[in-house]
Amino acid sequence: MVKNNKRLEDLDRAYIWHPFTQMRDWINDTPIVITEGRDCFIKDTYGRWYIDGVSSMWVNIHGHARKEINAALINQLSHISHSTLLGLANEPSVEFAGKLVSLISEHLKTDKLNKVFYSDNGSTAVEAALKMAFQYMQHTKKCADAVFVTLGNGYHGDTIGAVSAGGIDLFHKTYAPLLFKTIKAPSPYCFSCPDGILSDETDAPSKYRCTADGEFPCLTKLRNILEHLTPNVAAVLIEPLIQAAGGMITAPVGYLKAVRNLCTKFDTLLIADEVATGFGRTGTMFACEHEGVVPDILCLSKGITGGYLPLAVTIATEKVYNAFLGEFAEMKTFFNGHSYTGNQLGCAAALASLEIFEKDNVLNNLKPKIKILRDWLNSIFNHPHVSDVRVYGLMAGIELIKDKATMEPFQFEEKAGWQVAHEARKRSVFIRPLGNVLVIMPPLAISQENLSAMLIRIEKSIDAAFK
Ligand SMILES: *Cc1c(COP(=O)(O)O)cnc(C)c1O
Repeated sequence: MVKNNKRLEDLDRAYIWHPFTQMRDWINDTPIVITEGRDCFIKDTYGRWYIDGVSSMWVNIHGHARKEINAALINQLSHISHSTLLGLANEPSVEFAGKLVSLISEHLKTDKLNKVFYSDNGSTAVEAALKMAFQYMQHTKKCADAVFVTLGNGYHGDTIGAVSAGGIDLFHKTYAPLLFKTIKAPSPYCFSCPDGILSDETDAPSKYRCTADGEFPCLTKLRNILEHLTPNVAAVLIEPLIQAAGGMITAPVGYLKAVRNLCTKFDTLLIADEVATGFGRTGTMFACEHEGVVPDILCLSKGITGGYLPLAVTIATEKVYNAFLGEFAEMKTFFNGHSYTGNQLGCAAALASLEIFEKDNVLNNLKPKIKILRDWLNSIFNHPHVSDVRVYGLMAGIELIKDKATMEPFQFEEKAGWQVAHEARKRSVFIRPLGNVLVIMPPLAISQENLSAMLIRIEKSIDAAFK
């Protein structure tokens, strides 16, 4: 058994190039090789169980090895695993699209978002949205060189279009010469009120930077951009409520709604990238729900299959879709698609996941867990190495600081987040930081007991890392 552990570790070091990983550090460490998952836990080759504190990179919703999703997949396997959507339709993709559209209409109170375009992952969902909006401009406004307005610190995936729309220098700067130009509005993180207290409500999403009166300065910039560029803007692309990969940056309450109003005023499309926030993560089914916002195009992926299989959707309003209708020779077709588009297994898992949302009353059961998390964040805010805590629903970020009195940050090379993650690993908790920000994003199905246990262990890990 132990021999097999070593063999797998050596094979991994020899042959796997891990994403977002400095491989020299990786090969000098011992990889955790996962063999099993149950509920909110994952098990390695040594039989050690870890709490999956980041939902396996933000995808897992109902826990691992859910019998309902397993059964749905086995059932689907006995029929067919994949056939193409190019020229054919299939049962699970049709059923899921129908369910998803009614879910959206129930939660976002609209019947306009009803055309589901399938792809495989968050990046491709965003690429499809960008191409849709760009082509929409040609069909509707005869504008062939439309531009996108995106936000500083945004993250929309790693394909080149998504990187063009992104705004995180650390990830994106290297590729700058390859990218198309986008107009950057500031990240919605431009005000502060250090005495803020996280209330029980979902308002005040950040302790250090909470809601200010009047128009936010970051919004004024966006307004100016739209005023100047209006006829040429294809869309404004944002992550609603929280810039997740950008460091769990929470937008002030009202910001999203204000962006929607600006897009309406200046007659430009709003693309909501809910790849991270969709499917309950922020406490409501969709983040847009918090502020009663209906985007023109909605991107969903990560949690869509409950964390089982790669699947994504780009959902457009009928208005956008209709602009692509025409005579065959007019070439208004949306020329985009992937080999595994509409994959039956993925759609079967997604359908099963939606059923669990209902059966387990997932959204209602989140409320006490969100309270546990917010209470703990309020207390960890007093820690000498914590400068801010930010949260929406069950997505939280904790910003680490070297010296709270002078607000001197940890330097990049001090790897503060990694030190805490390493300590957490010793305490059977798996988390993955974003620089100096600890990310806490457990599966929504985590029990209150396990959530509390995880938070206590993370607190001990922060103590241990900087003692
Ligand atoms: C993760 C993420 C993406 C990219 O999704 P992938 O499946 O990793 O390609 C896009 N947008 C947001 C907001 C994300 O969090």
